[in-house]
Amino acid sequence: MDFESLKQECLACRKCGLCETRQNVVFGMGVSNAEVMFIGEGPGQNEDEQGLPFVGRSGKLLDQYLEAVDLFRDKNIFIANIVKCRPPKNRDPLPEEWAACMPWLQEQFELIRPKIVVCLGRIAAQRLIRSDLSVTKEHGQFFEKDGVLYMATLHPAALLRNPNNKPLAFADFIALREKIQEICDHTY
Ligand code: SF4
Repeated sequence: MDFESLKQECLACRKCGLCETRQNVVFGMGVSNAEVMFIGEGPGQNEDEQGLPFVGRSGKLLDQYLEAVDLFRDKNIFIANIVKCRPPKNRDPLPEEWAACMPWLQEQFELIRPKIVVCLGRIAAQRLIRSDLSVTKEHGQFFEKDGVLYMATLHPAALLRNPNNKPLAFADFIALREKIQEICDHTY
């Protein structure tokens, strides 16, 4: 399956109950040959309304960090979430919702084939890296799994709530930049 076909199938998905309350499926955003992917937990209100990942205030903050290290949604990265539809009132997704939605992300991984995956926040990090990972203690570290490097950093929404942690997140993006220069091609 090609990337556009995957997107069209995903946009019509009704595999779990979240399809009843969503406004839009948030498939993801970026380039399909990205070597770096960013993965969050799931859409919030703004994302649900616009059908795009990481918009609103936390999205703007994320974009500032990205641009500071020469990463751009329309040029060299792909941003997605583990769960593609917004859980009502931003509750945590239920186990059956995770299970129903993960195959979409797995297909995105298989088509994009990233070299580096950055997990934005605890939920994504614990789903994709290690179930007991502490983002507070282990952010900015790289973990190799099946030939792909994974790193966790603080979720932009958490940085808006606690701006004192912004330097920690920025240091993660600097470490990411160094890793990209080490292992990715010249488009970065
Ligand atoms: S959350 Fe995922 S599995 Fe559930 S309806 Fe949306 S796209 Fe489909």
